[in-house]
This record gives sequence, C-alpha cells and structure tokens, in this order.
Amino acid sequence: ANSPLAGKVALVTGASSGIGEATAAALAAAGAKVAVAARRIDRLATLSSRIEKAGGTAFAIEADIAKGGDVAAMVDKAASEWGRLDILVNNAGVMLLAPAAEADPDDWRRMIEINLVGLMATTKAALPHLKASKGHVVNVSSVAGRVANPGASGYAATKFGVVAFSESLRREVYADKVRVTVIEPGLVRTELGDHITNQEFKAGLEHRLATMEALTAEDIANAILYAVSQPPRVNINEILIRPTDQE
Ligand code: NDP
Repeated sequence: ANSPLAGKVALVTGASSGIGEATAAALAAAGAKVAVAARRIDRLATLSSRIEKAGGTAFAIEADIAKGGDVAAMVDKAASEWGRLDILVNNAGVMLLAPAAEADPDDWRRMIEINLVGLMATTKAALPHLKASKGHVVNVSSVAGRVANPGASGYAATKFGVVAFSESLRREVYADKVRVTVIEPGLVRTELGDHITNQEFKAGLEHRLATMEALTAEDIANAILYAVSQPPRVNINEILIRPTDQE
C-alpha cells in the first residue's frame, strides 16, 4: 500500500465538515492515525467510522477552539491517544462577512478568537509534542490572507494574521526541525458561508458559487497531503491555490 504517513499521528481541527473533514480522510488514507476535533461530535463520529471502515485509524475529540481549556484538553487527548503528535492541521475557522460600517463587533471577536487566537493557542499547546517528533504545523489561511476584499475586513484581518503568525513561528522552530506550512485556498464549496448574517454578502457568495467552478474540499486536502508528505529536508512554506475560474 502507498502509506507515506505510516507511523505518524495527526490532529485536524474543524474536521466535522469541509476542508478539515476531507483532510482527515486524506491523511488517514495515507497511513496516519488521525485525531479529529470540532464542536459537532455527531459529525466527527460519522467521519471516524468512515475512516475506520476504509482501513484507517481515527479518534474524535469534542472541542470548542474559542475556549482555552478545550484547546489544552484537545491537544493532550490527541497526543496521549497514540503517544505522539507529528502533524497539526489548524483548519477550524469561521467567515462572517460584512462591511466594517455594518459589522457586529461580536462577529469580529468570534473570528479573532477562533481563526487566530484559537489557532495560536492550539499551536502553542502542541509545540512540545511537535518538537519531540520533529513534526509539522499546517495553518489554513486563505486568499483573504493575501488579498483584502471589501466586506472581508474582519475575516481578512484574521487570515493576514495567520500568515504573519506562521512566518514568525517558522523562524522560531525551524532549528528544532519543525516545519510550518500556510495553505491559502480560494473559493472552496463547503459550509463556510452558512453562518454569514449579512444578507447582501451571503447572497454574493451564493452567486459566486453558482456561477463559477469552485474548488472542492478534496482539492485542498491534496495540497495539505503534498506538503506533509515531503522528506524532512523539504519545508513547503506556502501554498496559494485558486479555482481556475477565480480572478
Ligand atoms: P466549514 O464551515 O465546512 O468548516 C469549518 C470547520 O471549523 C467545521 O468543522 C467547524 O466545526 C469548525 N469550527 C468552527 N468554529 C469552531 C469552534 N469554535 N471550535 C472548533 N471548531 C470550530 O468551512 P471550510 O471547510 O471551508 O473551512 C475550513 C477552513 O478553511 C477555515 O479556516 C476557512 O477560513 C478556510 N478557508 C475556506 C475557504 C472556502 O472558500 N471555503 C477559502 C479559504 C479558506 P463545528 O462547527 O462542528 O465546531
């Protein structure tokens, strides 16, 4: 069998849908044991049994990334289940689009707590394990971490933040042989837009999805699998991946 990740243990956050779900399945199919985390434990249980039916190994962890206690417990559970942690995929995120003049500051706080502080705190908690294993951190940013569009001011602030955090982190940990990769997807067909409350921006996203061929969650999972399957000397720092149809 083609199992480039045999013997490795991965933790994927936001694995209950979309990119995280596809990534967990891809890493498991490549031989990694995968801890899958999110709030919707029922969806994680379904994913775990799908992975196990396909011959893989998975373990579901209920965690709210916005809660510091949950983050610490999640990393502890993932690292203790199989005694190590090699790959952390920080994927959990929300996108609450609205122009700054109309945005609810509580939506900004939510995005910062989940997309940015949650990702940073998860990374910090995982670092001792990743240093021990010469592991790999994969942070899911966005094209919105490189290009700031109107209506995405709060979201882009978090995703630019993920890019900045990742580059500082890379320079802090490369000497420990820990690799850091930022993934910057363009439009992917997932549940991400479901939580937008601004009707104009929600409709705008639905229109884009209806009129262009968006990426699939599997397309992004393939990019993540590529990054984490390289030999230890190869550190894929950044992957920017747009649908061909996207400007
Ligand atoms: P989904 O909405 O399908 O997935 C988001 C995941 O994040 C879910 O599993 C959700 O799980 C989890 N999540 C949300 N809030 C929390 C929380 N408080 N605690 C723990 N988990 C949480 O969207 P995508 O798959 O598209 O999004 C995944 C990542 O990809 C995000 O970071 C997003 O910003 C990024 N991205 C997506 C793009 C797209 O076009 N779709 C483009 C560029 C980047 P649950 O609700 O069960 O907790």
